[in-house]
Amino acid sequence: MKDYIVRATAAGETVRAFAVRSTDLVAVARETHHTFPVVTAALGRLLSAGAMMGAMMKGDRDILTLQIKGDGPIGQLTVTADSHGNVKGFPANPSVDIPTKRAGKLDVGGAVGNGFLTVIMDLGLKEPYNGQVELQTGEIGDDLAYYYTVSEQTPSAVGLGVMVDTDSSVKQAGGFILQVMPDAAEETIAALEAKVAGAAPVTTMMEQGMTPEDILQYYLGDLDLVILEKQPVRFYCDCSKHRVARALATIRTEDLDEIVRAGEEVEVKCYFCNTAYKFSIEELKEIMAAR
Ligand SMILES: [Zn+2]
Repeated sequence: MKDYIVRATAAGETVRAFAVRSTDLVAVARETHHTFPVVTAALGRLLSAGAMMGAMMKGDRDILTLQIKGDGPIGQLTVTADSHGNVKGFPANPSVDIPTKRAGKLDVGGAVGNGFLTVIMDLGLKEPYNGQVELQTGEIGDDLAYYYTVSEQTPSAVGLGVMVDTDSSVKQAGGFILQVMPDAAEETIAALEAKVAGAAPVTTMMEQGMTPEDILQYYLGDLDLVILEKQPVRFYCDCSKHRVARALATIRTEDLDEIVRAGEEVEVKCYFCNTAYKFSIEELKEIMAAR
């Protein structure tokens, strides 16, 4: 099975739902950033959420950015997604090693700490939409549910999970977002709350062989679930030397001057995918001259 998102509705379109299998894309993120297990879990959860939230956007060129800034050892997590199933992200500190919680559970909340979650949506309007909430637990799923309820007035249940194997590889990753629309009936909300309260973690369901469709079937099978669409998702970065050159052109003249005076080629790495781009002195001079 490959990574994909399913989009669905239930209860006569008064509930909308998304579920994702993101095991492969989280594995790519781990290999790209050489993350320690707790960072693999934290970044993987945010990437899984980003993939689903990206799929909620309608425009071809819409871009979603999720940023978590905490006072824990990870520091910051940044994830960007488009509406076509492309998602990428990076941690400020990939090498975090903190004790696990009970039963060997990775302490994502402890690694993230207290701080803020920011959601930025560039929908091609004059100003990008920007929402921020305080982190509730730093476990990311809870924080996103809080964001939806407070910032977008859409009560939501968000489940995100990454199961890291004993050899630090990614065994399972996935998640779901269930959203209650304003016209939902009381019984629908009550039924959903009961399901959420009794549910096993996403990765446990996946270990039992459940697909994203099966996960939505568990939550919404009694509420006339309708699967609308299935879309592949992947870890993908669209950086290029040209784009990096444009970013270089925005750094301060003195700094660029200094680099040129040092007389050596420079290597600039893309934060998102770690690809290194080399610029010769000649190229740097061209960049300076062109601005
Ligand atoms: Zn890149």
